[in-house]
Amino acid sequence: MNASQKMILLFKNGKTHWKIRVPVDAGDIEKFACEEICKYIHKITGTTLSYADENENDLIIYIGLRKDTRFINDLPAPAEGFDGYSILVSNRIIAILGENPRGVLYGVYDFLEKLGCRWYHPNLDPLDPELIHQKQNLDLPEGAWSEAAKIKDRIYWVSGFAFEIIPERLIPQIDWAAKNRFNCLSWQCVFDRIESDLELMNDKGIFEAMEKRGLNLHGPGHAFPYFLPASKYFKDHPEWYGYRDGNRQSRDTVFPAVTFCLSNPEACEQFMKNVEMFVKKYPQIKRLDILPADGAVACECEKCRESGSSDLIIALFNKLIARIERINPEITVDVVPGYGLLEKTPVKITPNDKLIGVYAHWGRNHKTSYNDADYERRSNLLVWKSCFREFWICSYYAANSHQPFFGPPFIHALKYDTEFYLEQGVSGAFVLEFPFGLWWNNAFNVRMGGIYPYYHPKRDPVSEIRDYAVHYFGEKAASLIAEFFLMLGDNRNLDKCYRASRGEADEGDMKFLKELSGMLKRCLQIASDDAVYSYRVQKLNACFDFLIFFAPSRREIMEIAKTAEEGVKDESGKRELNDKIASAQKTIEEILQKSAELEKQYPGVMDAEWMKSWMIHRTYISPLDKVEKSIGE
Ligand SMILES: [Zn+2]
Repeated sequence: MNASQKMILLFKNGKTHWKIRVPVDAGDIEKFACEEICKYIHKITGTTLSYADENENDLIIYIGLRKDTRFINDLPAPAEGFDGYSILVSNRIIAILGENPRGVLYGVYDFLEKLGCRWYHPNLDPLDPELIHQKQNLDLPEGAWSEAAKIKDRIYWVSGFAFEIIPERLIPQIDWAAKNRFNCLSWQCVFDRIESDLELMNDKGIFEAMEKRGLNLHGPGHAFPYFLPASKYFKDHPEWYGYRDGNRQSRDTVFPAVTFCLSNPEACEQFMKNVEMFVKKYPQIKRLDILPADGAVACECEKCRESGSSDLIIALFNKLIARIERINPEITVDVVPGYGLLEKTPVKITPNDKLIGVYAHWGRNHKTSYNDADYERRSNLLVWKSCFREFWICSYYAANSHQPFFGPPFIHALKYDTEFYLEQGVSGAFVLEFPFGLWWNNAFNVRMGGIYPYYHPKRDPVSEIRDYAVHYFGEKAASLIAEFFLMLGDNRNLDKCYRASRGEADEGDMKFLKELSGMLKRCLQIASDDAVYSYRVQKLNACFDFLIFFAPSRREIMEIAKTAEEGVKDESGKRELNDKIASAQKTIEEILQKSAELEKQYPGVMDAEWMKSWMIHRTYISPLDKVEKSIGE
C-alpha cells in the first residue's frame, strides 16, 4: 500500500453499511464461499453482515462468478492460470469474482487474509484457536487484483485419509486444505475396507465437506489386490497370479505382496471389469488412482520378465483409460512412475495421451530440489516427464518415514521444486503427509505445497516463514522465531535435522540443536505475557526438547551393534555389552514414555504409535534383538 492510496471503510465501531450478495441461482461452492466470508467477518468484528436484495447496487460485497457480473465496472483482467479470481475494492462495491466456483472460494480466502486471517495449521487443537485478529474498525486500501494458480492440480495426500478414517480429524484437514488452495485430496485405502470406508465418507459428511469446497477425491491408491483378489480368483485361476520361487503365488496382500501376472490377458480383463464396476458404483472418485500393493514385487514368469513391469502396467492402464472414458469422460486416470514397479522408464510402450503420470521418488533428501543438476534421479524424472502430457510430482514434504519428524521448512526444495514445475510444465503438485499425529509439525511444508505454486513468486517460502512468525507467534517473538525456522530449514543445516530425526546426531549436531533451543527459551520469555502466543511457543519448545533428547539416542545402539559385530571375546566383554544393552533398553523406554506424554499434551507434534512401530521397533529394538541373539549363541 502506498501513502496516496485511498482507504475504504468497511466497519466503524463494529457497525457497517455494507451488505453482502451472492446470486440466488449461485452454485453450492459460491454459496459456501459467501458463508465463509460472513463467518469470518463476524469473528473479526462481532457483527453479522446482512444480505442485499437484487436491486441494491451500492455498498455491496458481491460474491460470484465473473461471467455473471457484467454490471461491475473496473474489473482487472483475469490472471493467466487455473482456479483464478479477481477482487475489486472500491468505495461502492467490493467484488470477489471467480473464473470458476473454486476460484470464488479462493478469492474469499485471499480477501480474508487481507483482513488478517491466517490458516497456518488445521483447526485441531482446542487450545490453539483459529488465527483471527478481532477489530471494531476495519478498512482496506482501494484497489483491484487478479490471481490464478500457475499449476493446475494441487493435491494433498491427507494423513487423515491414510488407512484410518476418523471424520472428527479429517474434516478440519479438508477445511484447511481448501484454505491453502489445494483442489484435490488423495485417499489411501485399506484393501478390505474400501467399500465400508466409502460409505463412512458418505455418512459422516466427508464427501459433503469436499464437494462444497470444490475438492476432488483421488484414490483409492495402493489397491491392486482389491480389484483382483487372490482370495476370490486364485483357486480357479492360479495362472492369473504372480510367479515367484517356482510357483504361482496367492500372496497378494501380505508384505511383500506379489502382483498378479500382468502379461496374462484374462487376469487383466477381470481386473479392468472390476475397476469399471467400481467407477460406476462410486462416482465420487473423480481422479482414479490404483497402484500395486505398497512394496509389492513383480511376477517373474517368462513373459512378464521379458516385457518389464513398467511397460506392462502402462499397457494395462492405456486399455483401462479407454474403458473408463466410456463410462465417465470426466474421470482422470493416473499411474505412478518413479516408484515401485514403475521405477524404470518404459521401453516399448507410450502412455495414452490422457493418462496422467504421478512421479514419486520416495526417500529424497530435501536439501536437493528437482531442479538441481545433481539431483540423483533427474534423468529418470525427465524421461518419465517426457512420456506424459499431464504430469504431477509427488513430493514427500511430510512423509515422516524419512523426513525429519519435527518439520524443518524445506526452503530450498520448496523454492526450486516449484521452479522446476513451472519451467518444465508439470501440471500437478502433489504433497504427501504421514502419519497423522505430526500434523502440526508438517503444516508449513504441506501448506506451502498448495499455496506457493498458486502465488508463485509473490509468496516465497522465506517471506511465508516471516509472515507465519509475526501472525502466529506474535510481533514480539516474531523475528527470533523466524530466524529459528530459517536456520533449521537452511540447506546447510538440513543434514543435521535428518540425523537428529533418526537418533544419530553427532556432537556438532547437538551443539547446533542446543543453540537453537536457546533461541526458543528466549522466545518463551518474550511471549509470556500473551496466553495464546505463549502456548504456541511452548508447543514448539516441547517438541524441540523431545528432539534434543531423542537426537543422539540411537548412537548407543549403533555402538552395541558394532561391538557385537567385531566379536566379544571373553566373559567380561559379554558383561560389558549386556550392561550397554540394558542401558539402551532404558533409553528406549524413556523415548516411548516421553513421546506418549508429548502426544497427549500437545496435539500434532508427536505420533507415539508411529514412533514405536516405525522408528523404535525397526531401528532400535530389532538390531538390539539381533545382538542379544548373537551373544546367546
Ligand atoms: Zn507373469
